Amino acid sequence: MNLHEYQAKELFRQFGVAVPRGIKATSPKEAVDAAKELGGSIWVVKAQVHAGGRGKAGGVKLARSLQEVEDIAGQLLGSRLATKQTGPEGLPIHALLIEEGLNIVNELYLSVLVDRSSKRIAFVGSSEGGMDIEEVAESTPEKILTVTVDPTAGFQAYEARQMGFGMGLAKPQVDHLVKVMHGLYDMFVAKDASLVEINPLIVTGEGKLLALDAKVGLDDNALYRHKDLAEMRDSTQEDERENMAHEIGLNYVALDGNIGCMVNGAGLAMATMDMVKLHGGEPANFLDVGGGATAERVAKAFKLILSSDKVRAIFVNIFGGIVRCDLIAEGIIAAVKEVGLTIPVVVRLQGTNVEAGRKMLSESGMNIIAADDLTEAAKAAVAAAK
Ligand code: ADP
Ligand code: MG
Repeated sequence: MNLHEYQAKELFRQFGVAVPRGIKATSPKEAVDAAKELGGSIWVVKAQVHAGGRGKAGGVKLARSLQEVEDIAGQLLGSRLATKQTGPEGLPIHALLIEEGLNIVNELYLSVLVDRSSKRIAFVGSSEGGMDIEEVAESTPEKILTVTVDPTAGFQAYEARQMGFGMGLAKPQVDHLVKVMHGLYDMFVAKDASLVEINPLIVTGEGKLLALDAKVGLDDNALYRHKDLAEMRDSTQEDERENMAHEIGLNYVALDGNIGCMVNGAGLAMATMDMVKLHGGEPANFLDVGGGATAERVAKAFKLILSSDKVRAIFVNIFGGIVRCDLIAEGIIAAVKEVGLTIPVVVRLQGTNVEAGRKMLSESGMNIIAADDLTEAAKAAVAAAK
């Protein structure tokens, strides 16, 4: 689960990581009130969406008067913002963060993540902040610094000094960085975060170090022990079908293709997607209906796939081990009865009660292409989607 920038910055404050003064607004009037309360003469109006690259996409704007704050807020609120990270349809803007405009002298990059190879929490930093960090890593990898933290010793100040001097900071800013990294480490552990990214971390004209941007990703599997954080979820920023799947308890990931996949078992689901791609198709989703799938769950899963207008064909690939093939067939037939079916379905069933399942499907009157083997089934699905 991701947090909005204004939520992430609130967490930063709690852990002593300095951020600009800012107030959340959900209407142009609130935006103006926020600017008045902040005072000064330059404000930054920032669209709150779960994506980076907002600046380049027109979602972060400088305002030099209260009138401009109001105008920009009016333009942004209620519209959608498409950035490099969102895809063309973009994300809806329901909230803004109004911040004091700061005098930026230097833009740095700092993130915290779980480094799976060292099995430790790691900080990644760079003097080249404010831009695409992937690009920096590609063209000037020597400018990416990594510091891993020993979990038994915990975070140590020397690790931050190593990072700070490596970034080329002067002594006073290195001292600030020690505090920033300490706070981030404590927060990362206490809140079960999976990623914290500050791009840019800035040095202001007054020599202060501030987190100008804030991205926080939380570990979904630990949310049960952070009720306050779980309540911050903004489902308008998430994929609609992924949310539906989450409610039903299905493992579903939306993808860009047009072949809907319904599979049991994550491994088989991945192999199915590989086969689709191998034969020139593009999966519309990853879906693992699980080992103990009931007819009802299968029906819900099938409806979920059908609810996307991108889907041109459905590929059902079920190995009936724990789950029985006749139950799968029952679920599919129930879903189709309810929502109708206008696209071809390729079905590969194997395992327990397979004969009964196939019979039910062939007698259902649906447009079903039966296949025995995985290659044959994948080819049929790709052809059916064309
Ligand atoms: P994103 O990464 O989504 O584009 P950022 O929060 O990093 O959004 O903002 C983009 C750019 O806007 C920053 O790199 C910075 O130059 C400028 N900016 C953002 N907030 C402020 C602020 N409070 N004062 C001055 N400039 C800002
Ligand atoms: Mg940024």
